[in-house]
Amino acid sequence: MEQVESILGGMQGNPLNGLRAVDQRWSQWRKNPNVPPLMVASVAENCQDYDCDVVVCGGTLGILLAAALQRQGWRVVVLERGALRGRDQEWNISRSELNVLVEMELLTPQELRDVIYTEYNPARVQFHGGEPLWVENILNIGVSPKALLQTMKEKFLTWGGKIFENNACTAIRICDGGAIAETEKLKLKTRLILDGMGHFSPIAQQARQGKKPDGICLVVGSCAQGYTKNSSGDLIYTFTPIRNQCQYFWEAFPAKDGRTTYLFTYLDAHPDRFSLEFLLAEYLKLLPEYQQVDLESLDFQRFLFGFFPSYCQSPVHYPWARILPIGDSSGAQSPVSFGGFGSMLRHLQRLTTGIHEALQQDCCDRRSLAQLQPYQPNLSVTWLFQKSMSVGVKETCPPDQINDLMNAVFAVMADLGDDVLYPFLQDVVQFQGLAKTLPRVNFTTVLPLLPKLGVGALADWLRHYLSLGLYSSGYHLGKKLFPAPDNYRLRRSLEALKYGSGNDFEKDFQTED
Ligand SMILES: Cc1cc2nc3c(=O)[nH]c(=O)nc-3n(C[C@H](O)[C@H](O)[C@H](O)COP(=O)(O)OP(=O)(O)OC[C@H]3O[C@@H](n4cnc5c(N)ncnc54)[C@H](O)[C@@H]3O)c2cc1C
Repeated sequence: MEQVESILGGMQGNPLNGLRAVDQRWSQWRKNPNVPPLMVASVAENCQDYDCDVVVCGGTLGILLAAALQRQGWRVVVLERGALRGRDQEWNISRSELNVLVEMELLTPQELRDVIYTEYNPARVQFHGGEPLWVENILNIGVSPKALLQTMKEKFLTWGGKIFENNACTAIRICDGGAIAETEKLKLKTRLILDGMGHFSPIAQQARQGKKPDGICLVVGSCAQGYTKNSSGDLIYTFTPIRNQCQYFWEAFPAKDGRTTYLFTYLDAHPDRFSLEFLLAEYLKLLPEYQQVDLESLDFQRFLFGFFPSYCQSPVHYPWARILPIGDSSGAQSPVSFGGFGSMLRHLQRLTTGIHEALQQDCCDRRSLAQLQPYQPNLSVTWLFQKSMSVGVKETCPPDQINDLMNAVFAVMADLGDDVLYPFLQDVVQFQGLAKTLPRVNFTTVLPLLPKLGVGALADWLRHYLSLGLYSSGYHLGKKLFPAPDNYRLRRSLEALKYGSGNDFEKDFQTED
C-alpha cells in the first residue's frame, strides 16, 4: 500500500483522495446493511400542466437518449448533479456498435471520426497455461467520453433541449397523469422521467429495497506512457493462479495518452473482501510482469478505479409508473464485461423508438415501461459465468481452476469459429453458440465447479438457458407472423425476443475506410 500512497499521493490532483472516497463506499456496501433511500413517492396531485415531456436525471449516458428524443421533437430537460462532461479515459468499443450514432443522425460521420481517439488491432485473449487467441475489431476503438459528451451536449442544445448542471435531482413525485422531478432550485412537471444516475442511483436502490448486490466487479488501472510495445491490446488475460481468493483478469488498450491497463476481478460483497487500495497495490506489484516493464520507466497520466455492483434480477423493473431506468442504473449491461457504454449503444435505437411510442400513445404506466427494459435470457445466462469466475471467501479450490475452465471454454469457441466467438466477446450470448460450445467443453474441467455453484444456481441457469432457446425460435417465428406489428405491446414483445436472444448482433470485420 505504501507504493500506492507514494505514486498516487505525488500526482497532480491527488487521486489517492478519490480512491479512498470510492473505497469508503465499497466498505459501506460490504459491511453495512444498505438502507434504501426514499427518493420516489406517490402524491395525490394533478400535474398535467407539463413543463416538458421528458426529464433525464444524470447526463453521462443520459445525454445520448436525451438528444435522440429531443431530435424527434419531444421537449427534454437534463438534470445533472455536477458538470455534464465525460471523463478523460477512453471507452473501448467495436465499430459496429458505434455506427448507430450516425444511423440515428445524432452525429455526422465527421463528428464520429472526431470523437474516436484511438483504433488498434489485434487483441489477445489468453489464460494462464493456455495459448493466445488473436482477434480483430473487437473493442478496438477508443472513444473519448469527453469529446462525445461535449458534441452531444452542443447538438442537444441546438435542437432545443435544456440542461441544468450542478442540479442534483433530490426527489421524484408520481402524480395523476405525470411526475415531478425536484432539485433544490427546480420543480419540473413532466410526462416521463429517465433515471440515468448510474449504478448508485437512489431510485434504483429504492426499487431494489436496499438488497445487497449478487456480484461485484472491482477494477483498478492506469493510463501511462513509457511502454515499449503499444500496438496491440488484451481483451482478457491472466497470468497468475487464484490470489487472495480472487482470479485476477487483465485488460490493455493503446490509448491517446499512452497505454491503458486494467486489473479486474469478480467477487461478492462479503465484509472480509479487500479494498480497492489493496487491489491497486496488487496491480502495481504485478504490472511489471504483465507488461514486461519497470514501474520507474512509466509516466502515469491517470489512475482509474471503481466497483460495479450487479444483481441477478436485471434489468430492474421499477414499481412506479412514469420512471424508466436507463444506462447502468437499469442493470441492462453484462455482469461480466460491464461495458455500459456499449450496452447503451446496442439498445439506443430500440429505447428511442420505444420511449417515443410510449409518449405518443401515453403508455407510461408501470407495465408498459417495464416492457422497455425487458427480461433478457441472454443476459441472465451470463450470471453463472460471473459466478464461476469468482471464489468464495472461505472456499478452497485448486489454484488454476478458473484458468483451466477459461482455457477449456475458449479453446472450444475458437475451434467453432468466429460466428460463435465474436458475439460472445462482444457481450452477445446466442443460443446456437452456447448450445454448440457447452457439450464440447471437457466435463472434467466443469465437474469440480458444480458443488460451488450449487443446485439452485444451476437450476436457475437452466431456466434462463431454455428461455434463451425459446426466445431464439420465438424471434424467427414472430418475424414471420408479424412482419409489421402496429401495437405498442406487440412491438415491445418482438423486440424482447430479438434482443433477449442476441439476434440484434451484427458482426463487423471492417475497419473504417
Ligand atoms: C474504469 C472504468 C472503465 C470503463 N471502461 C468502459 C469501456 O471501455 N467501455 C464501456 O462500454 N464501458 C466502460 N465503462 C463503463 C461506463 O463508464 C459506464 O457504463 C457508464 O459510465 C455508465 O453511464 P451512466 O450514465 O449510466 O452512469 P454514470 O457514468 O454513473 O453516470 C451517472 C450520471 O448521473 C449523475 N447523477 C448522479 N446522481 C444524480 C442526481 N441525484 N441528480 C442528477 N444527476 C445525478 C452523475 O453525475 C453522472 O453524470 C468503464 C467504467 C469504469 C469505471
